[in-house]
Amino acid sequence: MTLRYRHLTQYIMAQKVSVKSFIIVFVSVMILGLMLYLFRPSPDLTSYRNHFAPTLPEGTIPEGKVKVTYWGVSSLLLDDGETKVLIDGFVTRPPMRKVFFGNIASDTGLVKGMIKQHGLEQLSAVITCHSHYDHALDAPYFAKYTDAVLMGSESTMQIGRGAGLFEGKLQLYHAGQPFQLGKFRITPILSKHVPAQKTAQWLGLQSNETRNISQPLSQPTKANAFEEGGTYDLFIEHDNNSLLVKASAGYLTNALDTLHADVLFLGIGLLHPNGKAYEQAYYYKTVGVVKPSLVIPIHWDNFFKPLRAPLLPNPYPDEVKGALDFLIQQTKQDSIALQLLDAFQAMYLF
Ligand SMILES: [Zn+2]
Repeated sequence: MTLRYRHLTQYIMAQKVSVKSFIIVFVSVMILGLMLYLFRPSPDLTSYRNHFAPTLPEGTIPEGKVKVTYWGVSSLLLDDGETKVLIDGFVTRPPMRKVFFGNIASDTGLVKGMIKQHGLEQLSAVITCHSHYDHALDAPYFAKYTDAVLMGSESTMQIGRGAGLFEGKLQLYHAGQPFQLGKFRITPILSKHVPAQKTAQWLGLQSNETRNISQPLSQPTKANAFEEGGTYDLFIEHDNNSLLVKASAGYLTNALDTLHADVLFLGIGLLHPNGKAYEQAYYYKTVGVVKPSLVIPIHWDNFFKPLRAPLLPNPYPDEVKGALDFLIQQTKQDSIALQLLDAFQAMYLF
């Protein structure tokens, strides 16, 4: 090898080393950036404190009244003093590292504790709005350890089968077909999931396709094994009053056109990141159509953190503040009351 070629070889080798170093540094920075993004602290909602509902004094439920207790995300306990109905009932809230990098399972000890604490032994039903884990992870276990039946889509039924529920405990619901639980008359309405966040799509945690769970899903399992299985709003009538639970911030045009609800539980998860035009369209297709006298935003809390007050907002930049500022201003303009509920906070709906 001539001197000239030797220099060239050394030059190429030196370049290779520096390319390798560059790749290592680049990948490390990307991983560090992702970790900082995923594990950044939640903002707080101190400036929204005056929008939280007043504390409800303890006591028996007056005849004809319906009490709701908020359990974070879109989990709601409805109680009229005779019948208790649990929507979603997601309480385990696994930490982010398990959701992204491990397997998740219902904390059945926690579920049993909640049953005891809230006197749910005679629970009538636990009803899921869709089958993602932040709605359906614990639902079958609330049915398993109480008198309740698990109600939901075919995918939710598979989550129930995976948890060992026998068929008599499973009740498939159908869009547009009401069912009666005590004085509660509940109609599932076909809706649409909120469009997925780009980062979550990239990580394989969310998709805009509606996928189903086609066989019994046992736990522990990957968070993304909890496929959506269709998204439903729940229209709930009680005597002459009504409420609508809209767990996910998606909508089907005209789906709610014939409905009026006195109270609207309005899912705002990922609403603001979908842009101003989407946010406005969502408002007009939900609040604008069912014309409630009270809007209660839900699905705004950071569900990677344990279920306790004060709930922290989802950490996605500006997601909660943006949606709340928009809703507060819009409902004020339309003379509609807006209230927030903290973890385990209760109120009478009507
Ligand atoms: Zn979902």
